[in-house]
Amino acid sequence: MPSRRDFLKQNSLAIAGAFVAGGSAVAAPTVVSSSARVPALLGGPSAWNKNRWPTWPRWNPETDEKQLLEVMRSGVWSRAGVVTEFEKAWASALGAKRALAVVNGTNALVTAIAQLGIQAGDEVLVPPYTFIATVSAVLTNGALPVFVDIDPRTYQMDPAKIEAKITPRTKAIIPVHILGLPADMNRIMAIARKHKLVVIEDACQAHLAEIDRKKVGTIGDAGCFSFQNSKNLPIGEGGAVVSNNDAFMDRCFSYTNFGYAYGNTVGSVGTGAVMQGTKLRFSEYQAAIGLAQLKRLDAETTTRNENAAYLKAKIKAIPGIVPYELYPNVTRAAFHLFPFRYQADAFKGLSRADFLAALTAEGVPCSSGYIPLNTQPFLKETFRSKAFQHIYARESLNIDRYNERNACPENEQLCREAVWFTQNMLLAERSDMEAIASAIEKIYQNAETLKKRAK
Ligand SMILES: *Cc1c(COP(=O)(O)O)cnc(C)c1O
Repeated sequence: MPSRRDFLKQNSLAIAGAFVAGGSAVAAPTVVSSSARVPALLGGPSAWNKNRWPTWPRWNPETDEKQLLEVMRSGVWSRAGVVTEFEKAWASALGAKRALAVVNGTNALVTAIAQLGIQAGDEVLVPPYTFIATVSAVLTNGALPVFVDIDPRTYQMDPAKIEAKITPRTKAIIPVHILGLPADMNRIMAIARKHKLVVIEDACQAHLAEIDRKKVGTIGDAGCFSFQNSKNLPIGEGGAVVSNNDAFMDRCFSYTNFGYAYGNTVGSVGTGAVMQGTKLRFSEYQAAIGLAQLKRLDAETTTRNENAAYLKAKIKAIPGIVPYELYPNVTRAAFHLFPFRYQADAFKGLSRADFLAALTAEGVPCSSGYIPLNTQPFLKETFRSKAFQHIYARESLNIDRYNERNACPENEQLCREAVWFTQNMLLAERSDMEAIASAIEKIYQNAETLKKRAK
């Protein structure tokens, strides 16, 4: 820990640096005036101009529209050659044998869970620090989510807590590479093999993230991705299942196309369905957008990694700011979000909500992220359904007992402390990272005054 004096010295330099680097974006005093240190919430100039952050999604008419227009003008809009081209490109970007594009990440998960044989009555281990779709995909298949608490340093499912949650009914683990930071797959896979569990990676936030140079989503039995608008590969809506297992991928294809045998697509009536399926097909114009976005993804991922490392190094010395940690074998993260934990005690008790308001006023967009999933009312509602009541013993569906068994205290604490920056901010310049750091430092120095104002 640096001393407070070191910190203040460093800090005033950082503020001066930010103004120099900031150029025309700020009122641009050449010398740091004392008013520059006044938080924006208290009437000082903001550390940055909120309108300068890169917008999302990106779109370049010159390079991105040719194939899309060809698709539009061809009139072939339902699944055909461009979807297949996108699937091949996505599989190849990951080093996976196969990819199946579907309507969204949620249904990629629903499909993978169903076609790996997870059914009503089975238990599936999930982390509580995730987007709701991870859990609802389990419930949609009639299976019971069982929550494994997280490691607050990494935000990921804690492998050390998995085995205690395994019962004779446990069939699968869904590690989620949440925020685009890889989960500890080496340990999770070892546990899964030992107990003969299926592993479905929820990589919906983790495009091109890697462990030991292997892409996440290709380590377990199946990987699921989302191409929703906010995601690092944005198509508006879209998703994919990836795997090296041909029989499984053929079944996923059938399931998402009325149960018709693999290879039958649009207009194949009269061939007969080999299984009960639904319809979750991707369309040609979505695939054309995806191919355009894919061209940028690798370079953008590199920029996010570089800026995240730089920002982390800048803010980690600030007392009360605890940035994420990556597992040692992570060779690349996706940084769908940049997270740190905010510890109010070091900020004179300034609440996280007041810290977020002060940081937002400095021109730095930020949010508090997820609220605990395992205690939300949708679980109780699902447990009341006829289907669940038929499948499960009364005892399993007693919501109070369920909540006790699924208590995740580390996650509760993380949900109180987390602060997020969105991935598009990591596509900005180095000087923007400096601005974020100096805005946080400014709030740190003025925590007492800000707290008085908040009262
Ligand atoms: C976005 C997301 C999903 C769902 O993807 P959609 O394309 O929005 O359906 C699932 N899991 C995680 C972790 C996500 O972030």
